[in-house]
Amino acid sequence: MKKKLVVITGASSGIGKETAKIFNTNGYPLLLLARRVELLKELNLTNTICKKVDVADYQSFKKSIEEAEKKYGPVDLLINNAGIMPLEYIYNQKLEVQHKIVDINIKGVLNGMHTVIPRMKELKHGTIINISSVAGRYTYDAHSVYCGTKYAVHAISEQARKELADFNVRILTFAPAIVDTNLLSTVENKEILDAYNSNKKRVGNGLRPEDVGKMLLYMYQLPQRISLKEIIYSATKDNCC
Ligand code: NDP
Repeated sequence: MKKKLVVITGASSGIGKETAKIFNTNGYPLLLLARRVELLKELNLTNTICKKVDVADYQSFKKSIEEAEKKYGPVDLLINNAGIMPLEYIYNQKLEVQHKIVDINIKGVLNGMHTVIPRMKELKHGTIINISSVAGRYTYDAHSVYCGTKYAVHAISEQARKELADFNVRILTFAPAIVDTNLLSTVENKEILDAYNSNKKRVGNGLRPEDVGKMLLYMYQLPQRISLKEIIYSATKDNCC
């Protein structure tokens, strides 16, 4: 059967990038989104459209999906993966940074959901996987705003799942602990960075991004009648929860 369109946000690095490669190997047509479009193009994947999109910008997010659907048909899987984690104690964190975390980590997810849900609901088919975090279930030092955004992703996904169940649309939450990616690139506070890295080293650098990509493929490839609603996933040595 012809494979359907898969959209992955934040595919220029880390989890999104490895997931893109795995879905490509498995024959899915892809729409890959990120701000650094040159990194998407460097992946050089077949049957793939790469677009420079900031997920916080609803219009360009929506436009890119409409363009891809013209070529490949309706989106059957959206992986809302793009995210940032500029860790800082709340009393030191600039308000503009806090707003940016909300814009990308929450509004970015809503922008994607809002774009694809009407068609999925109409077709009575489709899957959205929202990448949350263990920080969407538990709080950690210097994570207040980041945790707030991931708690929101958990809550939005949980209720959306219930509301879309009758329409045969799956809303799945994937919550990893430490994954070895570039997510720390926006952390400026050296003390916080050192503490995080020392814990990361203790747990053998955590999960590999491809470990996540394989699980996302597994969740998606389950028959549409089965919903693996929520996963918490970590390296065995990671005692985060
Ligand atoms: P990376 O920093 O390696 O990748 C983040 C990706 O998000 C990049 O491709 C980046 O692309 C994209 N991105 C960031 N902001 C935007 C934006 N405004 N618009 C479009 N794309 C954007 O980190 P990870 O792979 O680790 O992160 C992926 C997801 O996994 C995030 O949601 C993160 O919160 C979550 N997560 C990660 C964990 C970890 O330990 N690594 C643990 C738990 C959850 P570009 O900069 O080119 O736009």
